[in-house]
Amino acid sequence: MNQIKSQTLKGFRDFLPKEMAVRNYVKNTLTEVFENFGFLPLETPALEYTSILKGKYSNETDDKLGYFFKDNGDREIGLRYDLTVPTAKVLAIYSNQLQLPFRRYQIQPVWRAENTQKGRYREFIQCDVDIFGTDSPIADAEIISLIYTGIQKLNLKNAVIKINSRAVLFDILTKSGVEKDQNSILQSLDKIDKIGQDGVKTELISKGLSDAQINNLFKEIKTSQPDANLQKVLDLLSSFNIPKDAYIFDPTLVRGGDYYTGTIFEVNVDGANGSIGGGGRYDKLIATLGGPQISAIGFSFGFERIVDVIQELNLLPENNQSNIKVLVANFGPETEKNILNLVSQLRDKNISSILYPDFDKIGKQIKYALDLGIKYLAIIGTDELKNNKITVKNLVTTEQKLVSFDELINML
Ligand code: AMP
Repeated sequence: MNQIKSQTLKGFRDFLPKEMAVRNYVKNTLTEVFENFGFLPLETPALEYTSILKGKYSNETDDKLGYFFKDNGDREIGLRYDLTVPTAKVLAIYSNQLQLPFRRYQIQPVWRAENTQKGRYREFIQCDVDIFGTDSPIADAEIISLIYTGIQKLNLKNAVIKINSRAVLFDILTKSGVEKDQNSILQSLDKIDKIGQDGVKTELISKGLSDAQINNLFKEIKTSQPDANLQKVLDLLSSFNIPKDAYIFDPTLVRGGDYYTGTIFEVNVDGANGSIGGGGRYDKLIATLGGPQISAIGFSFGFERIVDVIQELNLLPENNQSNIKVLVANFGPETEKNILNLVSQLRDKNISSILYPDFDKIGKQIKYALDLGIKYLAIIGTDELKNNKITVKNLVTTEQKLVSFDELINML
Protein backbone atom coordinates (compact mmCIF):
# COMPACT_ATOMS: atom_id res chain seq x y z
CA MET A 1 0.00 0.00 0.00
CA ASN A 2 1.24 3.50 -0.79
CA GLN A 3 2.21 5.62 2.19
CA ILE A 4 0.04 8.75 2.39
CA LYS A 5 2.11 11.92 2.26
CA SER A 6 0.83 14.36 4.88
CA GLN A 7 0.73 17.83 3.38
CA THR A 8 -1.46 20.91 3.29
CA LEU A 9 -2.54 22.63 0.07
CA LYS A 10 -0.73 25.82 -0.90
CA GLY A 11 -2.60 28.88 0.35
CA PHE A 12 -4.53 26.78 2.89
CA ARG A 13 -3.55 26.58 6.54
CA ASP A 14 -3.83 24.37 9.60
CA PHE A 15 -4.30 26.34 12.80
CA LEU A 16 -2.81 24.78 15.92
CA PRO A 17 -4.31 25.66 19.33
CA LYS A 18 -1.94 28.60 20.04
CA GLU A 19 -2.93 30.28 16.80
CA MET A 20 -6.58 29.38 17.32
CA ALA A 21 -6.46 31.24 20.64
CA VAL A 22 -5.67 34.48 18.75
CA ARG A 23 -8.18 33.78 15.98
CA ASN A 24 -10.96 32.98 18.48
CA TYR A 25 -10.10 36.08 20.50
CA VAL A 26 -10.45 38.33 17.44
CA LYS A 27 -13.62 36.57 16.30
CA ASN A 28 -15.23 36.62 19.76
CA THR A 29 -14.26 40.24 20.46
CA LEU A 30 -15.69 41.47 17.16
CA THR A 31 -18.80 39.27 17.52
CA GLU A 32 -19.47 40.85 20.92
CA VAL A 33 -19.17 44.32 19.41
CA PHE A 34 -21.45 43.42 16.48
CA GLU A 35 -24.08 41.98 18.81
CA ASN A 36 -23.78 44.96 21.14
CA PHE A 37 -24.59 47.19 18.17
CA GLY A 38 -27.63 45.06 17.38
CA PHE A 39 -26.32 43.23 14.33
CA LEU A 40 -27.71 39.75 13.73
CA PRO A 41 -25.67 36.72 12.67
CA LEU A 42 -25.90 35.28 9.17
CA GLU A 43 -24.20 32.24 7.68
CA THR A 44 -24.44 31.00 4.10
CA PRO A 45 -23.13 27.79 2.49
CA ALA A 46 -19.60 27.39 1.15
CA LEU A 47 -20.91 26.28 -2.25
CA GLU A 48 -23.27 28.28 -4.45
CA TYR A 49 -24.47 27.98 -8.04
CA THR A 50 -21.89 29.42 -10.43
CA SER A 51 -24.60 31.62 -11.96
CA ILE A 52 -25.00 33.36 -8.59
CA LEU A 53 -21.27 33.75 -7.97
CA LYS A 54 -20.59 35.03 -11.47
CA GLY A 55 -22.67 38.15 -10.98
CA LYS A 56 -21.68 41.49 -12.38
CA TYR A 57 -19.48 42.28 -9.41
CA SER A 58 -15.97 42.08 -10.74
CA ASN A 59 -14.97 40.05 -13.77
CA GLU A 60 -11.50 39.57 -12.41
CA THR A 61 -12.71 38.02 -9.17
CA ASP A 62 -15.36 36.04 -11.01
CA ASP A 63 -13.21 34.34 -13.57
CA LYS A 64 -9.64 34.19 -12.36
CA LEU A 65 -10.03 33.98 -8.63
CA GLY A 66 -13.00 31.71 -8.27
CA TYR A 67 -12.99 27.97 -7.60
CA PHE A 68 -15.58 26.61 -10.04
CA PHE A 69 -16.40 23.00 -10.86
CA LYS A 70 -19.20 20.52 -11.56
CA ASP A 71 -20.65 18.45 -8.71
CA ASN A 72 -21.63 14.79 -9.02
CA GLY A 73 -25.12 15.83 -10.12
CA ASP A 74 -23.58 17.81 -13.01
CA ARG A 75 -24.47 21.17 -11.45
CA GLU A 76 -22.20 24.14 -12.18
CA ILE A 77 -21.10 25.28 -8.73
CA GLY A 78 -18.33 27.20 -7.00
CA LEU A 79 -16.94 28.22 -3.62
CA ARG A 80 -17.97 31.68 -2.41
CA TYR A 81 -15.22 34.25 -2.83
CA ASP A 82 -16.80 36.96 -0.70
CA LEU A 83 -19.75 37.44 1.66
CA THR A 84 -21.58 40.17 -0.23
CA VAL A 85 -22.70 38.02 -3.17
CA PRO A 86 -24.27 35.34 -0.91
CA THR A 87 -25.93 38.07 1.17
CA ALA A 88 -27.48 39.58 -1.97
CA LYS A 89 -28.86 36.10 -2.69
CA VAL A 90 -30.27 35.87 0.86
CA LEU A 91 -31.90 39.30 0.49
CA ALA A 92 -33.48 38.14 -2.79
CA ILE A 93 -34.78 34.80 -1.47
CA TYR A 94 -35.92 35.74 2.04
CA SER A 95 -37.17 39.30 1.54
CA ASN A 96 -40.51 38.43 3.15
CA GLN A 97 -38.79 37.06 6.29
CA LEU A 98 -36.24 39.81 6.84
CA GLN A 99 -37.15 43.07 8.47
CA LEU A 100 -35.61 46.14 6.83
CA PRO A 101 -33.33 47.78 7.72
CA PHE A 102 -31.56 44.42 7.99
CA ARG A 103 -28.40 44.54 10.11
CA ARG A 104 -26.28 41.46 9.69
CA TYR A 105 -22.77 40.33 10.48
CA GLN A 106 -21.10 37.37 8.85
CA ILE A 107 -17.76 35.81 9.78
CA GLN A 108 -16.95 32.90 7.48
CA PRO A 109 -14.17 31.60 5.28
CA VAL A 110 -14.03 32.52 1.60
CA TRP A 111 -11.86 30.98 -1.13
CA ARG A 112 -9.89 32.66 -3.87
CA ALA A 113 -7.39 31.06 -6.24
CA GLU A 114 -4.87 33.83 -5.50
CA ASN A 115 -1.14 33.97 -5.96
CA THR A 116 -0.16 33.35 -2.37
CA GLN A 117 2.14 35.60 -0.34
CA LYS A 118 2.33 36.84 3.24
CA GLY A 119 -1.17 37.93 4.20
CA ARG A 120 -2.68 36.55 0.96
CA TYR A 121 -4.19 33.11 1.28
CA ARG A 122 -6.49 30.92 -0.78
CA GLU A 123 -8.74 30.24 2.18
CA PHE A 124 -9.27 33.10 4.58
CA ILE A 125 -11.86 34.52 6.93
CA GLN A 126 -13.90 37.55 5.98
CA CYS A 127 -15.67 39.50 8.66
CA ASP A 128 -18.41 41.74 7.31
CA VAL A 129 -20.95 43.93 9.00
CA ASP A 130 -23.60 45.76 6.97
CA ILE A 131 -26.91 47.58 7.21
CA PHE A 132 -29.28 47.00 4.30
CA GLY A 133 -32.33 49.06 3.45
CA THR A 134 -31.62 52.59 4.70
CA ASP A 135 -29.81 55.57 3.27
CA SER A 136 -29.87 57.50 6.54
CA PRO A 137 -26.51 59.10 7.46
CA ILE A 138 -27.13 57.71 10.96
CA ALA A 139 -26.35 54.27 9.51
CA ASP A 140 -23.04 55.57 8.11
CA ALA A 141 -22.13 57.09 11.48
CA GLU A 142 -23.15 53.91 13.28
CA ILE A 143 -20.83 51.78 11.17
CA ILE A 144 -17.97 54.19 11.88
CA SER A 145 -18.83 54.11 15.58
CA LEU A 146 -18.77 50.30 15.47
CA ILE A 147 -15.37 50.30 13.75
CA TYR A 148 -14.04 52.60 16.46
CA THR A 149 -15.43 50.37 19.22
CA GLY A 150 -14.02 47.21 17.60
CA ILE A 151 -10.56 48.71 17.41
CA GLN A 152 -10.73 49.86 21.04
CA LYS A 153 -11.85 46.44 22.26
CA LEU A 154 -9.00 44.78 20.38
CA ASN A 155 -6.62 47.27 21.97
CA LEU A 156 -5.20 48.30 18.60
CA LYS A 157 -3.26 51.52 19.04
CA ASN A 158 -3.27 54.81 17.14
CA ALA A 159 -6.13 53.86 14.93
CA VAL A 160 -7.15 56.38 12.32
CA ILE A 161 -10.39 55.99 10.45
CA LYS A 162 -10.02 57.80 7.13
CA ILE A 163 -13.33 59.00 5.77
CA ASN A 164 -14.31 60.38 2.39
CA SER A 165 -17.24 60.17 0.01
CA ARG A 166 -17.45 58.81 -3.52
CA ALA A 167 -20.12 61.46 -4.17
CA VAL A 168 -17.53 64.15 -3.32
CA LEU A 169 -15.01 62.49 -5.65
CA PHE A 170 -17.49 62.20 -8.54
CA ASP A 171 -18.36 65.85 -8.06
CA ILE A 172 -14.69 66.84 -8.27
CA LEU A 173 -14.23 64.80 -11.45
CA THR A 174 -17.22 66.49 -13.06
CA LYS A 175 -15.98 69.94 -11.97
CA SER A 176 -12.54 69.14 -13.44
CA GLY A 177 -14.15 68.32 -16.78
CA VAL A 178 -13.70 64.56 -16.42
CA GLU A 179 -17.14 63.28 -17.30
CA LYS A 180 -16.31 59.97 -18.93
CA ASP A 181 -15.19 56.70 -17.27
CA GLN A 182 -15.21 58.26 -13.80
CA ASN A 183 -14.88 54.88 -12.04
CA SER A 184 -11.87 53.95 -14.11
CA ILE A 185 -10.22 57.32 -13.33
CA LEU A 186 -10.87 56.77 -9.61
CA GLN A 187 -9.32 53.30 -9.84
CA SER A 188 -6.12 54.91 -11.13
CA LEU A 189 -6.18 57.55 -8.38
CA ASP A 190 -6.53 54.76 -5.82
CA LYS A 191 -3.09 53.44 -6.82
CA ILE A 192 -1.25 56.51 -5.52
CA ASP A 193 0.18 54.62 -2.50
CA LYS A 194 1.44 51.82 -4.75
CA ILE A 195 2.76 53.64 -7.84
CA GLY A 196 3.10 57.25 -6.63
CA GLN A 197 1.74 60.46 -8.14
CA ASP A 198 3.89 60.14 -11.29
CA GLY A 199 2.70 56.58 -11.89
CA VAL A 200 -0.91 57.67 -11.50
CA LYS A 201 -0.29 60.57 -13.89
CA THR A 202 1.10 58.25 -16.56
CA GLU A 203 -1.92 55.99 -16.20
CA LEU A 204 -4.36 58.91 -16.42
CA ILE A 205 -2.64 60.21 -19.56
CA SER A 206 -3.04 56.76 -21.09
CA LYS A 207 -6.74 57.01 -20.23
CA GLY A 208 -6.98 60.22 -22.27
CA LEU A 209 -6.66 62.99 -19.66
CA SER A 210 -4.60 66.11 -20.41
CA ASP A 211 -1.79 67.40 -18.16
CA ALA A 212 -3.89 70.40 -17.23
CA GLN A 213 -6.87 68.20 -16.32
CA ILE A 214 -4.69 65.96 -14.17
CA ASN A 215 -3.06 68.84 -12.28
CA ASN A 216 -6.43 70.38 -11.75
CA LEU A 217 -7.78 67.09 -10.49
CA PHE A 218 -4.97 66.62 -7.94
CA LYS A 219 -5.42 70.21 -6.72
CA GLU A 220 -9.20 69.92 -6.44
CA ILE A 221 -8.98 66.62 -4.57
CA LYS A 222 -6.49 67.91 -2.02
CA THR A 223 -8.54 71.01 -1.22
CA SER A 224 -12.00 69.46 -1.36
CA GLN A 225 -14.43 69.65 1.54
CA PRO A 226 -17.14 67.26 2.73
CA ASP A 227 -20.51 67.71 1.01
CA ALA A 228 -23.67 68.25 3.07
CA ASN A 229 -24.32 64.51 3.45
CA LEU A 230 -20.80 63.64 4.56
CA GLN A 231 -20.74 66.66 6.89
CA LYS A 232 -23.91 65.32 8.52
CA VAL A 233 -22.18 61.93 9.03
CA LEU A 234 -19.14 63.65 10.56
CA ASP A 235 -21.35 65.75 12.85
CA LEU A 236 -23.14 62.61 14.05
CA LEU A 237 -19.83 61.04 15.05
CA SER A 238 -19.37 63.42 17.96
CA SER A 239 -22.85 62.56 19.20
CA PHE A 240 -21.68 58.94 19.20
CA ASN A 241 -18.84 60.12 21.49
CA ILE A 242 -16.10 59.23 19.06
CA PRO A 243 -13.04 61.30 19.89
CA LYS A 244 -12.01 63.76 17.19
CA ASP A 245 -8.53 62.26 16.84
CA ALA A 246 -9.95 58.83 15.96
CA TYR A 247 -11.01 59.86 12.45
CA ILE A 248 -10.11 62.27 9.68
CA PHE A 249 -11.74 63.50 6.53
CA ASP A 250 -9.24 62.37 3.90
CA PRO A 251 -10.14 63.73 0.46
CA THR A 252 -7.48 61.50 -1.15
CA LEU A 253 -9.16 58.29 0.02
CA VAL A 254 -10.67 56.61 -3.04
CA ARG A 255 -11.12 52.85 -2.34
CA GLY A 256 -10.99 50.64 -5.39
CA GLY A 257 -14.47 49.15 -5.65
CA ASP A 258 -16.60 50.63 -8.43
CA TYR A 259 -19.70 49.81 -6.44
CA TYR A 260 -19.27 52.49 -3.75
CA THR A 261 -21.76 55.35 -4.08
CA GLY A 262 -21.35 57.54 -0.97
CA THR A 263 -19.38 57.55 2.28
CA ILE A 264 -16.20 55.44 2.16
CA PHE A 265 -13.76 54.61 4.94
CA GLU A 266 -10.59 52.74 5.68
CA VAL A 267 -8.70 52.07 8.93
CA ASN A 268 -5.02 52.13 9.73
CA VAL A 269 -3.47 51.10 13.04
CA ASP A 270 0.04 50.79 14.45
CA GLY A 271 1.77 47.61 13.40
CA ALA A 272 -0.33 46.92 10.32
CA ASN A 273 1.25 47.23 6.98
CA GLY A 274 -1.66 48.80 5.09
CA SER A 275 -5.25 49.08 6.21
CA ILE A 276 -6.97 46.64 8.58
CA GLY A 277 -10.30 47.06 6.90
CA GLY A 278 -12.44 49.14 4.63
CA GLY A 279 -15.97 49.78 3.56
CA GLY A 280 -18.58 52.27 2.62
CA ARG A 281 -21.98 52.90 1.13
CA TYR A 282 -23.00 50.89 -1.92
CA ASP A 283 -26.58 51.71 -2.75
CA LYS A 284 -26.79 49.96 -6.12
CA LEU A 285 -24.73 46.80 -5.74
CA ILE A 286 -27.31 44.51 -4.13
CA ALA A 287 -29.69 44.94 -7.08
CA THR A 288 -26.79 44.37 -9.51
CA LEU A 289 -26.04 41.10 -7.74
CA GLY A 290 -29.61 39.89 -8.16
CA GLY A 291 -30.94 41.14 -4.82
CA PRO A 292 -33.64 43.75 -4.24
CA GLN A 293 -33.12 47.45 -5.00
CA ILE A 294 -31.93 48.51 -1.55
CA SER A 295 -29.35 50.84 -0.06
CA ALA A 296 -26.44 49.34 1.83
CA ILE A 297 -23.54 50.42 3.97
CA GLY A 298 -20.96 48.24 5.62
CA PHE A 299 -17.46 47.44 6.65
CA SER A 300 -15.15 44.48 6.21
CA PHE A 301 -12.64 43.93 9.01
CA GLY A 302 -9.44 42.47 7.52
CA PHE A 303 -9.59 39.48 9.84
CA GLU A 304 -6.32 37.84 8.78
CA ARG A 305 -4.40 41.09 8.99
CA ILE A 306 -5.81 41.88 12.45
CA VAL A 307 -4.78 38.39 13.63
CA ASP A 308 -1.25 39.07 12.32
CA VAL A 309 -1.07 42.42 14.16
CA ILE A 310 -2.32 40.91 17.44
CA GLN A 311 0.32 38.18 17.09
CA GLU A 312 3.19 40.47 16.07
CA LEU A 313 2.50 43.06 18.79
CA ASN A 314 1.69 40.46 21.45
CA LEU A 315 -1.74 41.94 22.09
CA LEU A 316 -3.47 38.73 23.13
CA PRO A 317 -4.65 39.31 26.71
CA GLU A 318 -3.10 36.83 29.15
CA ASN A 319 -6.42 35.29 30.13
CA ASN A 320 -7.14 34.43 26.49
CA GLN A 321 -3.93 32.47 25.98
CA SER A 322 -5.39 29.23 27.21
CA ASN A 323 -8.93 28.57 28.29
CA ILE A 324 -7.71 25.85 30.65
CA LYS A 325 -7.21 27.41 34.07
CA VAL A 326 -6.19 24.48 36.26
CA LEU A 327 -4.26 21.27 35.91
CA VAL A 328 -5.08 18.88 38.74
CA ALA A 329 -1.90 16.92 39.41
CA ASN A 330 -1.81 13.15 39.74
CA PHE A 331 -0.20 11.78 42.94
CA GLY A 332 -1.08 8.15 42.46
CA PRO A 333 -3.98 5.77 43.15
CA GLU A 334 -4.43 6.84 46.78
CA THR A 335 -5.88 10.24 45.86
CA GLU A 336 -7.31 9.32 42.47
CA LYS A 337 -10.91 9.53 43.66
CA ASN A 338 -10.26 12.96 45.19
CA ILE A 339 -8.69 14.48 42.08
CA LEU A 340 -11.51 13.19 39.88
CA ASN A 341 -13.90 14.74 42.31
CA LEU A 342 -11.99 18.04 42.37
CA VAL A 343 -11.88 18.38 38.59
CA SER A 344 -15.63 17.70 38.39
CA GLN A 345 -16.35 20.33 41.04
CA LEU A 346 -14.18 22.89 39.24
CA ARG A 347 -16.00 22.18 35.97
CA ASP A 348 -19.34 22.55 37.77
CA LYS A 349 -18.18 26.03 38.79
CA ASN A 350 -17.40 26.73 35.11
CA ILE A 351 -13.66 26.70 35.68
CA SER A 352 -11.97 25.00 32.77
CA SER A 353 -9.74 22.30 34.18
CA ILE A 354 -8.10 19.02 33.31
CA LEU A 355 -6.45 16.32 35.34
CA TYR A 356 -3.17 14.67 34.53
CA PRO A 357 -4.06 11.07 33.74
CA ASP A 358 -0.74 9.37 34.53
CA PHE A 359 1.26 9.11 37.76
CA ASP A 360 4.35 10.82 36.31
CA LYS A 361 7.06 12.85 38.04
CA ILE A 362 5.68 16.19 39.20
CA GLY A 363 8.24 18.07 37.04
CA LYS A 364 6.81 16.42 33.95
CA GLN A 365 3.27 17.34 35.02
CA ILE A 366 4.29 20.99 35.59
CA LYS A 367 6.00 21.14 32.20
CA TYR A 368 2.84 19.82 30.57
CA ALA A 369 0.79 22.58 32.26
CA LEU A 370 3.27 25.29 31.28
CA ASP A 371 3.34 24.13 27.65
CA LEU A 372 -0.45 24.42 27.54
CA GLY A 373 -0.36 27.90 29.14
CA ILE A 374 -2.19 26.69 32.27
CA LYS A 375 -1.69 29.07 35.17
CA TYR A 376 -2.60 26.95 38.20
CA LEU A 377 -1.60 23.50 39.39
CA ALA A 378 -3.86 21.93 42.04
CA ILE A 379 -2.37 19.19 44.20
CA ILE A 380 -4.06 16.71 46.49
CA GLY A 381 -1.37 14.50 48.07
CA THR A 382 -1.61 12.48 51.24
CA ASP A 383 -1.06 15.56 53.51
CA GLU A 384 -3.74 17.59 51.77
CA LEU A 385 -6.04 14.59 51.94
CA LYS A 386 -5.63 14.37 55.71
CA ASN A 387 -6.45 18.08 56.14
CA ASN A 388 -9.14 18.16 53.51
CA LYS A 389 -7.23 20.92 51.70
CA ILE A 390 -5.71 21.56 48.30
CA THR A 391 -2.27 22.96 47.51
CA VAL A 392 -2.52 25.45 44.69
CA LYS A 393 0.57 26.58 42.86
CA ASN A 394 0.65 29.62 40.60
CA LEU A 395 2.94 28.39 37.84
CA VAL A 396 3.74 31.92 36.69
CA THR A 397 4.89 33.31 40.07
CA THR A 398 5.69 29.83 41.55
CA GLU A 399 3.87 30.98 44.71
CA GLN A 400 1.97 28.18 46.47
CA LYS A 401 -0.73 28.04 49.14
CA LEU A 402 -2.74 25.52 51.10
CA VAL A 403 -6.42 26.34 50.63
CA SER A 404 -9.93 24.98 50.99
CA PHE A 405 -12.06 24.32 47.90
CA ASP A 406 -14.01 27.56 48.43
CA GLU A 407 -10.79 29.54 48.80
CA LEU A 408 -9.52 27.96 45.58
CA ILE A 409 -12.65 29.03 43.70
CA ASN A 410 -12.23 32.60 44.97
CA MET A 411 -8.64 32.68 43.76
CA LEU A 412 -9.45 31.63 40.19
P1 AMP B 1 -12.14 42.41 -0.87
O1 AMP B 1 -13.36 41.54 -0.94
O2 AMP B 1 -11.10 42.04 -1.90
O3 AMP B 1 -12.46 43.87 -0.85
O4 AMP B 1 -11.43 42.09 0.50
C1 AMP B 1 -12.07 42.26 1.73
C2 AMP B 1 -11.14 41.92 2.87
O5 AMP B 1 -10.53 40.64 2.70
C3 AMP B 1 -9.98 42.88 3.00
O6 AMP B 1 -9.87 43.17 4.37
C4 AMP B 1 -8.77 42.14 2.50
O7 AMP B 1 -7.60 42.51 3.19
C5 AMP B 1 -9.11 40.72 2.80
N1 AMP B 1 -8.51 39.84 1.79
C6 AMP B 1 -8.71 39.88 0.45
N2 AMP B 1 -8.02 38.90 -0.17
C7 AMP B 1 -7.36 38.22 0.80
C8 AMP B 1 -6.50 37.06 0.82
N3 AMP B 1 -6.19 36.43 -0.30
N4 AMP B 1 -6.02 36.63 2.00
C9 AMP B 1 -6.36 37.26 3.15
N5 AMP B 1 -7.17 38.32 3.23
C10 AMP B 1 -7.67 38.81 2.05
